[in-house]
Amino acid sequence: MTTLTVPAEPPVSISERSPAIVLEGVRRHYGASDRRVDAVAGLDLTVHRGEIVALLGPNGAGKTTTLDMLLGLTPASEGRVAVFGQAPAHATASGRIAAVLQTGGLLSDLSVRETVEVIASLHSREALRRVPETLERADLLRLARRRVAKCSGGEQQRVKFALALVADPDILVLDEPTAGMDVTARRRFWEVMRADADAGRTIVFATHYLEEAEQFARRTVVMNRGRIVADAPTDRLRASLGARTLSATLPAEGARELLTVLDARPGVTDLRVDAGRVSLRAADSDVVASALLASGAHDLEIVAPTLETAFTTLTEN
Ligand code: ATP
Repeated sequence: MTTLTVPAEPPVSISERSPAIVLEGVRRHYGASDRRVDAVAGLDLTVHRGEIVALLGPNGAGKTTTLDMLLGLTPASEGRVAVFGQAPAHATASGRIAAVLQTGGLLSDLSVRETVEVIASLHSREALRRVPETLERADLLRLARRRVAKCSGGEQQRVKFALALVADPDILVLDEPTAGMDVTARRRFWEVMRADADAGRTIVFATHYLEEAEQFARRTVVMNRGRIVADAPTDRLRASLGARTLSATLPAEGARELLTVLDARPGVTDLRVDAGRVSLRAADSDVVASALLASGAHDLEIVAPTLETAFTTLTEN
């Protein structure tokens, strides 16, 4: 008789099965009760492994406070924060989560290479071996011997990026990571991030550049006054709250009648005519496009709504 042996699965710890990040009923307030600031006023958020999440919100929305709690830099006043099922400080200490933050100084007397080596040596021998590759990925090879004090703001931001990368964390937390970087550095930064995301790294980033969320994050979370006001796939968020903009060259005859009909259509706003071209915003762009073409209008252009429209609608009050 043959016996079928099923190889035992390797033991899986609770942390291996847990989502990357869980925030449940999280609040964080500062100051005494008479002058209390509710920086985070009740937040529920789960981020799964391999997700790329953009955190958007106006100044003071609570983004940095949220990221600080994820990293164990500040405690929640209420609620639960877990990273791979564990306390954030534990995940930070083991290098499973690392960050590029707005605050936090660098040691100005060290060179760029020494700075990355010092931090790598605190993590592991493996991290130390990764230093050359990390300098290359952060586009710092040419600056490796330069003292940090002599680096520009954008270059120092890349040094911070290298410090986060060298730990090879499962989760990267980025608070306005490209602030101060020029266009080329910003593009390169996102190329590296995209490759990391494709390789399965979980990335959570706060930004004021909405196009970074549009181009890079599959999921966008919008915060306002310490709360989440939207949490959706980025393309859906953009489409759900914005009308498409249409423009076309008006026909030689019947333009006046066409404009009257369009103006009266529900869902049509911002109708303007300039140098023989009409432009408008329409909730139902297909119907309006058909009406334009049927009336003899030509050179039709349809532009998709931007994330900025959605962002403004969600956060303007
Ligand atoms: P920004 O886009 O300007 O960076 P943010 O969304 O990151 O803003 P936070 O820095 O999290 O916002 O701040 C949220 C609120 O909490 C703000 O009103 C801020 O003034 C307040 N706050 C943050 N840290 C403290 C602190 N240590 N003491 C008192 N209030 C604080």
